Amino acid sequence: MKIEIIRHSLAHILAYAVQELFPAATEGEPRQGRGVKFGIGPAIENGFYYDFMFKNPLTPNDLPKIEEKMRELVKKGFSFEKKEISKKEAEKLFSDQPYKLELIAELPENKITIYKSGDFVDLCAGPHVKSAKEIPVDGFKLNEIAGAYWRGSEINQMLTRIYGLAFETEKELADYLKMQEEAEKRDHRILGQKMDLFHIDENVGPGLILWHPKGALLKKIIMDYALNEYLKTGYQLVDTPHIGKLNLWKTSGHTDFYKENMLPPMHMKEIGKEEKDDYQIKPMNCPFHIVIYKTGIRSYKDLPLRYTEMGTVYRYEKSGTLHGLVRVRQITQDDAHIFCTPEQLSQELFSTLKLTYKILKDFDFKEFDVYLSTQPEKYVGSPKVWEKAENSIKYSLEKLKIKYETDVGGGAFYGPKIDIKIKDSLGRPWQCSTIQLDFNIPERFDVNYIDQKGKKQRVIMIHRALLGSIERFIGVLLEHYVGSLPLWLAPVQAWIIPIGTRHNQYAQSVKKDLSSLRVEVKDENETVSKKIRNGELQKIPYLLVVGDREMKNKSVRVRAKNKDLGEIKLTKFVEKAKAEIEKKK
Ligand SMILES: [Zn+2]
Ligand SMILES: [Zn+2]
Repeated sequence: MKIEIIRHSLAHILAYAVQELFPAATEGEPRQGRGVKFGIGPAIENGFYYDFMFKNPLTPNDLPKIEEKMRELVKKGFSFEKKEISKKEAEKLFSDQPYKLELIAELPENKITIYKSGDFVDLCAGPHVKSAKEIPVDGFKLNEIAGAYWRGSEINQMLTRIYGLAFETEKELADYLKMQEEAEKRDHRILGQKMDLFHIDENVGPGLILWHPKGALLKKIIMDYALNEYLKTGYQLVDTPHIGKLNLWKTSGHTDFYKENMLPPMHMKEIGKEEKDDYQIKPMNCPFHIVIYKTGIRSYKDLPLRYTEMGTVYRYEKSGTLHGLVRVRQITQDDAHIFCTPEQLSQELFSTLKLTYKILKDFDFKEFDVYLSTQPEKYVGSPKVWEKAENSIKYSLEKLKIKYETDVGGGAFYGPKIDIKIKDSLGRPWQCSTIQLDFNIPERFDVNYIDQKGKKQRVIMIHRALLGSIERFIGVLLEHYVGSLPLWLAPVQAWIIPIGTRHNQYAQSVKKDLSSLRVEVKDENETVSKKIRNGELQKIPYLLVVGDREMKNKSVRVRAKNKDLGEIKLTKFVEKAKAEIEKKK
């Protein structure tokens, strides 16, 4: 908590520095004009900000000067003094500060607290450090200027927000900056562009991904791999429409509890008299899988039934929260629904978890944050089934030696769930896999099976997506590998680069010999060094240069990860590549 107080206190000091540098007096720097107006300045994750209204716009070039002033002020070591005043006094004190006056108007009559730090007075409830001496003089840095609407509302004026970072030590700040630098290097939006995988087009719409040939191929490789694993372990492939009658989502309850994430319904009657029903673009695949399940009478002997689909769903996400591939409006899920009896539940959970771990490990993820969310206060289904389900999950997690945290009472009203966050090579967690039990939807759709005694019983349903959203998963993979995808995933695994036109024919014969790989011959009229540069930029795993020597020796000169690995016999290279693909390394 201490650091939060430091961060918030720094917001005051930032405002103090601004007050000193952009004074209200007529003298002062000519371009600043007069009278900075002060907004608010809270602590945030990793730092703080303060909103100001400057008469003339500020530029990032102004930040070092403000930061220097802040340091100068911190070194003075003044104290933060609290004072309680009346509303009248506050209004007088902040008479030239319209934003403060707006805040004061909302405060109680006689309990207005102000804080004085040095020559700066601010309206604030605290808490702050006692003295500026407590602030690490090398632990903070101003890092950004942005526009921000007063109180976050578009109908208000746009203010200038200055952001700062703050940590308890200089080293922590340096570590954070280093981490940021690393994160920037692996930003999947930039890598996606360099590698020519995808783009988002303003003519198409935010959160909608346009996959280019190599990106689409990458997506297919991942989906094919996952689907194959599912089919091998007893899942059945289904395929369902992207739209369906709105009524389905009324039955499922989504129009109530999932409304905000759904796109508006389509009024079919507007286009033709014969269509009376409204349709909905699907936010989830579940109702369709249930409808398939219900096409027959299912006996306990038919269960478990596991329906899987690379299902594309559409969800409304606020445009401000969209982010490259990791938060989109069109999501391809490696979705599945398992229908089973209570007796089969343990085994199903165990095998689902086991499969999840196998798959995530194949993608080189080794560390996970696992959360089990249990029965909330309001729930549907019988307490006995909840207990059994939770115990089965715990048992499976423990048997598989998976460390997890329990979020007591954090489950959805319809069932407990397991969320798995994968940690990338920078240690950042990403929500991917989810396994959710559902005691509600089988009830709403009246989904049954016939038990040993010939009696109708309610089925138990598990929703699960192991990669989660394929879009997000690819974003995470790109950041995890900094774009250098392992050979088995790389959409283009090698380029064959002939040195001169007289080597083109040999290049083509090499391509034939490498027919088990995804290979391109780069015989366009460009220098070899330029092709190598492009190949490295596009993170092509192997660049195979061929000239006279290679032609004579039936070999290739191999470059991988910016290194020259020398000449390798073609047959050897094929073996090496095959082994690499086999090991998924
Ligand atoms: Zn304060
Ligand atoms: Zn579902």
